[in-house]
Amino acid sequence: MSLNSAIEWTDATWNPVRGCVKISPGCKHCYAETFAERFRGVKGHPYEQGFDLRLVPEKLPEPFSWRSPRLVFVNSMSDLFQSGVPDAYVEATAMVMATANWHTYQILTKRSQRLCELLRTKLQFASEKDNIWWGVSVEDREYGLPRIAHLRNSPARIRFLSIEPLLEDLGEIDLSGISWVIVGGESGPGARPMKREWVVSIRRQCRAQGVPFFFKQWGGVRKAKNGRLLDGRTYDEYPERYTAPVPDKARCLSLAESILSSFRTRAELVQLTA
Ligand code: SF4
Repeated sequence: MSLNSAIEWTDATWNPVRGCVKISPGCKHCYAETFAERFRGVKGHPYEQGFDLRLVPEKLPEPFSWRSPRLVFVNSMSDLFQSGVPDAYVEATAMVMATANWHTYQILTKRSQRLCELLRTKLQFASEKDNIWWGVSVEDREYGLPRIAHLRNSPARIRFLSIEPLLEDLGEIDLSGISWVIVGGESGPGARPMKREWVVSIRRQCRAQGVPFFFKQWGGVRKAKNGRLLDGRTYDEYPERYTAPVPDKARCLSLAESILSSFRTRAELVQLTA
C-alpha cells in the first residue's frame, strides 16, 4: 500500500494486481502503463515485468497492517475486473475490503459488465457494504456511457463515476443511483484537450441531480500550471463516508490471519499463489 497518494481524490493506493490490457480510448495515455514500463527488466523492482498482468497475493493482507482509516484506491495500477484476473482472486480482494472495514475502498473499472455480473453473484457479500465504493471510468459517449448503465444496474451502496480523461461533451447524463462524480482532463505528453463547457455541463447536471462533484484537474501537458480551479474555486465534494471503529493491533492481526487461512483453503486461490 502506498500512503499519501498524489491522486487528488484518495489517501492511499493498494495494488494486489499489477498491469493491464488497454480496452478503450481512455487508455491511450495510461499513466500506469507509462510508469510500469519504465522499470521493465529492472531486477527485483515491483514492475520488473513492466505492465504485464500480474497477481500479487502477498499484497492482499496489506490493509490489515494499516490501522488509521484511509480512503484507499484499489488497483490504481491495474483493473481488477479485466478477464485475466480469476473470479476467486476478485473475491479474495473483496473479502479483504469487507473485513478490514475501517478503511473506505474505491474500486474503479472499465470492465463494467463483469463488475455488474459479479456484484450480482460472487461479490454479493460485498456489494452493499458502506465502506466499498464501486465505480466506472467514463471518457466518451461510445464507451463511457454504457458503463454508467451497467453500474446503475449493479447492486451497490455507493456508485461513482470517474469521468477522466474527459474527451468530449457527454450530453445529458442520467445520474440516478450515482453517489459521486469526479471529472478531470488528461495530463502528460500528448494530452488531449478538455473544453470548459464539457465540465460545466457535468457540474450543472450534478447540481440538478444532487450528486457530489469533484473537479480533479484541467490536465494538459503541464498539469501543475493548469491547476484545478473551476470558475475561481476548487470542487472537492465527496459522498458521505462511513467509518467503522479500528480494532486493536492483536485483533487486526487475527483478522488478517483468518482471512489468509480462508484463502489458503480455497483450491483456486492456492493454485494462483503457487
Ligand atoms: S483500464 Fe485503466 S489501467 Fe487498464 S490500460 Fe486502461 S487506463 Fe490503464
